[in-house]
Amino acid sequence: MKKVIYSVLVFALVLTIAGCGSKKKDKKEEKPKKATIDYMVLVNKKNKLPNNWEELVELETAKDAWGDDVQVEKKALEQFYKLQKDLLAEGIDIELDSIYRSVAEQQDLWDRWTVEKGEEYVKTYVAVPGYSEHHTGLAIDVCLKIDGEIVADNEEMIANKEIFAKVHAKLADYGFILRYPEGKKDITGYDYEPWHFRYINDTKIAKEIMDNNLTFEEYLEKNK
Ligand SMILES: [Zn+2]
Repeated sequence: MKKVIYSVLVFALVLTIAGCGSKKKDKKEEKPKKATIDYMVLVNKKNKLPNNWEELVELETAKDAWGDDVQVEKKALEQFYKLQKDLLAEGIDIELDSIYRSVAEQQDLWDRWTVEKGEEYVKTYVAVPGYSEHHTGLAIDVCLKIDGEIVADNEEMIANKEIFAKVHAKLADYGFILRYPEGKKDITGYDYEPWHFRYINDTKIAKEIMDNNLTFEEYLEKNK
């Protein structure tokens, strides 16, 4: 009798394992292919964020320089951490500042800064809601930490030329480009922003852009 029970148990176990296996397999086959974001997407004053972007983008939470939560696109954040570590070895500390903003948040920012800093400032530094690269999650604004002090002011950061030259030299190695280079406002629509990096998920293209001092717009136009 004992033997019979044992056999039944073994049979049941085999069935269960077989069942699990086939279930897993079915699940894998049924899984629809997930659409992914286009890392080469162009968002600027003339090109709006694609409509389905907010559904597709995978965001991760990280801490900014002040310890507050910010959201960054998954791969961009992974690569940012590597860049940050690399620079730290050279004594340069870059920290996250402004990263992802939804279209609704951008509207809020536009309204608030118009009151606080004036229309002129807003039109120079703030994008129209829907037309900010920060909607992609792929744009990272950094600030500097120098001798334990956070340097996040635009003018002060621009003045730290030597530090940013070293930072910019490493961007392409991690798939980032400097999005608003100096003297290219007529193309990008923005003044020089040494702190605004854009992740494009392709180190080869990033190198081509950085080595030739191209804007993202120029690269895309050349490679249409
Ligand atoms: Zn920015």
